[in-house]
Amino acid sequence: MSITTAPTSSSAATAGTVLDAAFPSGLGAFIDGRVATGSGESITLTAAATGEAFASYADPGAEGADAILASSTAGAAVWGALNGFERAAILRNVSRAVERHAEELAILESATTGKPIRDARAEAAKVAEMFGYYSGWADKLTGQTIPVPGNWHTYTERVPWGVVVAITPWNAPLFTAGWNSAAPLAAGNAVIIKPSEFTPASSVRLAQIAHEAGLPAGVFNVAAGLGQTVGAALTTDPRVGKISFIGSVPTGRRVAVAAAGAGIPALLELGGKSANIVFADADLERAAEGAISAIFSGAGQSCVAGSRLLVQRSVHAEFVEMVAAKAALLRVGDPLSADTEVGPIITAQQFSIVTDLITAGMDDGGRRLTGATLPASLTGSALSGGHWVMPTLLDGVTPANRLETTEVFGPVVGADAFDTEAEAIARANNTSFGLAGAVWTSDVSRAHHVAREVKAGTFWINAYKTIHVAVPFGGFGDSGHGRSSGPGVLDEYTQAKAIWVPTRAAGSPFPSLSY
Ligand code: NAD
Repeated sequence: MSITTAPTSSSAATAGTVLDAAFPSGLGAFIDGRVATGSGESITLTAAATGEAFASYADPGAEGADAILASSTAGAAVWGALNGFERAAILRNVSRAVERHAEELAILESATTGKPIRDARAEAAKVAEMFGYYSGWADKLTGQTIPVPGNWHTYTERVPWGVVVAITPWNAPLFTAGWNSAAPLAAGNAVIIKPSEFTPASSVRLAQIAHEAGLPAGVFNVAAGLGQTVGAALTTDPRVGKISFIGSVPTGRRVAVAAAGAGIPALLELGGKSANIVFADADLERAAEGAISAIFSGAGQSCVAGSRLLVQRSVHAEFVEMVAAKAALLRVGDPLSADTEVGPIITAQQFSIVTDLITAGMDDGGRRLTGATLPASLTGSALSGGHWVMPTLLDGVTPANRLETTEVFGPVVGADAFDTEAEAIARANNTSFGLAGAVWTSDVSRAHHVAREVKAGTFWINAYKTIHVAVPFGGFGDSGHGRSSGPGVLDEYTQAKAIWVPTRAAGSPFPSLSY
């Protein structure tokens, strides 16, 4: 790819130019070390910042899924036969290659999704880190020696599943492609990324870079295409060993049911409705900065977004005014500009969902403190057709408001007041989700108590939104199950195999059990 510094405009023409430079022969699935342009239904890509179409590519369909699975099955045999030291060396090379190509990947991600370039750069660096981290585990996967009664030497080995299918969403395509491939690859599986049909480009380029860095053909394929065709075909095929899914609750459940019918286990990372709890004794300035980044980074298109702001009554009015004032200063605009802090909503469908939910939140009694009007920089420019939603704070979002429990997945926070610690915990838990949350307080005992009581897979004290590949991440309740990072995930991507050897000829090798 020739573009290595961010172009200055994010027009549809720029998105098209960046995509053409990355894929001179056209975009498609990545199969067996090559980009394969399909022949199915045409999928149009739209620039979020302008609303204009900039490219199209062909869905591979069920036929394409078959070809991808054949390639991945062969790839799994080659990759699984390497020892951990060999896999580690190749994954280290992949990490370095991603580092070298980080700027190019960031520009591709920003141009084709509308994600601000500063966020895309941070996420590209994180992907290099993910491969570096799990390369370190590839040669350290051990079983156990287990004492048992009698004369036996009994031990376990970790066995990869073979082919792992990782289905990813549109809000962080590059990040989630790395997040859900580095660990299963380290564990010895071949991986198929099924990216969102709206945002496939960075996943395909990542697989290409990984292949050039030494991953054998078929080990990292990308099924760029529609969920209901190629995605659905990948969730029920007996050649698939395990599925990891990141996306919405309804789709995640559909995928899990389809996979269960075929006997395939699925890990689910789904949505959230996370509470950010601010006590009167908190450092309010820091808490306000935290509340801003919790909800408005990524334009709120983040599973861990702090979309509910619960503030102790004595500081509530002052605090929501502080947050609203800071929100109004955020730089919203051209994703490829280095100054931009908040970009557009990535898809037109999601734009409608977000704007409808703002209306619903106000109909249910929420008072909008900021975010009502688009600035002239957006309305009177090439960006006027983009999917823009200004950072929006609604105050007075009570438990009866639809914003209390519905995931918006946009830059919209609902605030309300509470009186006691018990009330704050009950409000935080007033959701079927359980992905994340935070508390801001200077009382250390209260901080730990609230952290323990709030139902969430990740919880921050006087902070928000830090996650790291070394730390387990995942949800409770409707936010899913299973964890997708940290060393423990290597157990998710392998199965224990128990091996029994009699150590004395006199011991019976045939105990009378009929299990
Ligand atoms: P989505 O559920 O619409 O789609 C997710 C993926 O599923 C896409 O790749 C899609 O093509 C695929 N898909 C759709 N139908 C399928 C089928 N029948 N079989 C197989 N695959 C199918 O989600 P989205 O709109 O892309 O993403 C937004 C959602 O993702 C939000 O709810 C958000 O909270 C969630 N999310 C969760 C996390 C997390 O880590 N918990 C991270 C990011 C996003």
